[in-house]
Amino acid sequence: MTSAVRFLKVSRHFGAVRAVDGVDLEIAPGEFFAMLGPSGSGKTTSLRLIAGFEQPTSGHIEIFGETAEGVPPYRRNVNTVFQDYALFPHLDILDNVAYGLMVKGMGKAERVKEAEKALELVKLPGYGSRRPGQLSGGQRQRVALARALVNKPRVLLLDEPLGALDLKLREQMQEELKSLQRALGITFIFVTHDQGEALSMADRVAVFDNGGIVQQGTPQDIYRRPKTRFVADFVGSSNVISPDVMTALGGEKRWASLRPEAIRLSGEGIEAKVESASFLGAATRLTVDITGSRLHVMLPAGSDIPDIGTAIRLTWQQGDLHYMDDAA
Ligand code: ATP
Repeated sequence: MTSAVRFLKVSRHFGAVRAVDGVDLEIAPGEFFAMLGPSGSGKTTSLRLIAGFEQPTSGHIEIFGETAEGVPPYRRNVNTVFQDYALFPHLDILDNVAYGLMVKGMGKAERVKEAEKALELVKLPGYGSRRPGQLSGGQRQRVALARALVNKPRVLLLDEPLGALDLKLREQMQEELKSLQRALGITFIFVTHDQGEALSMADRVAVFDNGGIVQQGTPQDIYRRPKTRFVADFVGSSNVISPDVMTALGGEKRWASLRPEAIRLSGEGIEAKVESASFLGAATRLTVDITGSRLHVMLPAGSDIPDIGTAIRLTWQQGDLHYMDDAA
């Protein structure tokens, strides 16, 4: 099947800065794809390369099987929702949404109809005559979405789309974006530095570091089987266990990761000392010491919480211990 977006050894350097460096990437049609990574890792530059706002220094980009070389942004069938929404403050909402259609030369009656349809899609019917200044942050976000969707792009790019919203609204919009994407079947590619957001929304995640992709896979895959310490640290709250400690535990002399929720208290197993316990509502997090190294243990609600300073024993399933590729 033809990929929606394909990168072949794509680089974008700015002088000595390798913003994007030799990236290979394939995103399937209809996929909800997350680019996850810390600040400066090359996510936004990758998105801008897809949009056509940047050109690769080397390498090759295809969009639905056709080369993107020399194709200007407005002819790429790709639309972007920017983090700051970039709405025109002096235009009303309907004109903001219909703007792209006007530029394309669509007649007024048709463009009003299309813009109204798009506003309905993002659950803002009847808001057309307001100005952006009269809307809440979440509503402005929806307008920005409607303005991109009205052009019926095959690929929608979202740069930290929910970054400006408070936590509750963000969670609500995460669900709405996901169901909208499913209903429309458009390829969504979004940039985030929030691992929870990437894991909960995306079909597949690419983890960026230093201009490169260090791991790509389903959220489950990346969470359970991080390739490197960097991924284990960045995605979730994994225990990263050093080769020395692994040897002391009778394992291989390699770096390993072990998710806190995979560890159980039991009568037998490895001895540990409880250093602290934090009640989190749905779970309790213990910090324990094993052979001079700290581990987090996530106990489900309703578990007996051991006293601080006491010795306990811990077990886990062999399959939950995951060795990583870092040099020992
Ligand atoms: P953030 O989450 O902070 O937006 P990011 O992962 O999206 O980060 P990019 O914006 O892609 O990262 O930037 C990657 C690197 O390229 C950074 O070091 C940045 O300073 C540099 N960079 C990006 N655009 C330019 C430019 N136009 N000129 C020079 N350097 C740039």
